[in-house]
Amino acid sequence: MQLLDSLEQGLQALDAQHLRRRRRTADTPCAPHVQVDGRAMLAFCSNDYLGLAAHPAVTAAFAEGVARYGAGSGASHLISGHARAHAQLEERLAAIMAPHLEQARALYFCTGYMANLAVLSALAGKDAAIFSEALNHASLIDGARLARAEVHVYPHGDTGVLAEQLAACRASTKLIVTDGVFSMDGDIAPLRELLALAERHGAWLVVDDAHGFGVLGDQGHGVLEHFGLRSPHLVLMGTLGKAAGVGGAFVAAHATVIEWLVNRARPYIFTTAAAPAQAHALLTSLDIIEGDEGRSRRTHLQALIAQLKDDLRLRGWQHMASPTAIQPIVLGANEHALRAAAALDAAGLWVPAIRPPTVPAGTARLRVTLSAAHTADDVGRLVQTLNQLNAEI
Ligand SMILES: *Cc1c(COP(=O)(O)O)cnc(C)c1O
Repeated sequence: MQLLDSLEQGLQALDAQHLRRRRRTADTPCAPHVQVDGRAMLAFCSNDYLGLAAHPAVTAAFAEGVARYGAGSGASHLISGHARAHAQLEERLAAIMAPHLEQARALYFCTGYMANLAVLSALAGKDAAIFSEALNHASLIDGARLARAEVHVYPHGDTGVLAEQLAACRASTKLIVTDGVFSMDGDIAPLRELLALAERHGAWLVVDDAHGFGVLGDQGHGVLEHFGLRSPHLVLMGTLGKAAGVGGAFVAAHATVIEWLVNRARPYIFTTAAAPAQAHALLTSLDIIEGDEGRSRRTHLQALIAQLKDDLRLRGWQHMASPTAIQPIVLGANEHALRAAAALDAAGLWVPAIRPPTVPAGTARLRVTLSAAHTADDVGRLVQTLNQLNAEI
């Protein structure tokens, strides 16, 4: 059939560019030491930055949530799927974000991808302008497309170009949209400057804190706590399947923004609510994140980051040392990144090779992510293998 032939040709073209993606199948929970495709591996690829995905207190809370609320929600939030656990989680998240927002309210979503589609499509109509950072996550790019607003992309970290774009724009509604922590580089957006621009130009500042929530800030409240920001112009999206270890995401903003999303955001309205048990488990994740255990997990994570920075000795490969758990090593060509990942794999280390379109062409990389669940010995083994590989190649 011709339709299938053209897909086969497309797949072969991906192979030729070293861009074909393959999945691996894990038989054990998300953790540093996993059984994957029948082999024992040491993994540096998850976003489970605090090691909460398989934490006994979190999994017990999930089971308790299932016992209390059943397996599924059965309907969307606006029909009958909104459970007490969802409401409790939203109240808790609103309290967490209260120091950073005016009249804070929070809304729980099934995924961060959907939350970003919801925010951008509901806040930016056809008459709006979206100012999007060049390295933003795919879900923000897709959200901007769905919004059908005009989109201005500004270069990575370049608040000067953004200021010019804002000054030249006549749209009545403006949204500046940025990752808080960039998912493939690990660096942090200049949010203080971005917020000043948003306030000067009467724009929303939409921050995607997928990789900062749980990790940054003394209490793990994320990038807004890290910078100590507060403004009615802020709209924060945080995911709960990464450092929080469970799943779903939230948007926190002024109560009027949230009420608008409940009424108008199609990715919120037209989907079955996430299992209430998930929200119930997240209450325990938040207890850990905000408590002494969360603080000591963040301290341990920072020690592992420092160890990696101090001990890596690479020539020709660029370690993009970042202040977060995301520590990319840029090799450039897709083929080189794939070959390095294959050599690590042969040594029992699971580190993903990230290629375009996830990152710009010519910047294929090993995306090393560290977790508080790793030990210093785990990181030592990674560093030693990377140093040795780099010296051989
Ligand atoms: C993972 C991620 C998302 C999507 O969140 P999910 O809950 O996984 O759908 C959005 N933005 C960024 C920056 C991410 O890294």
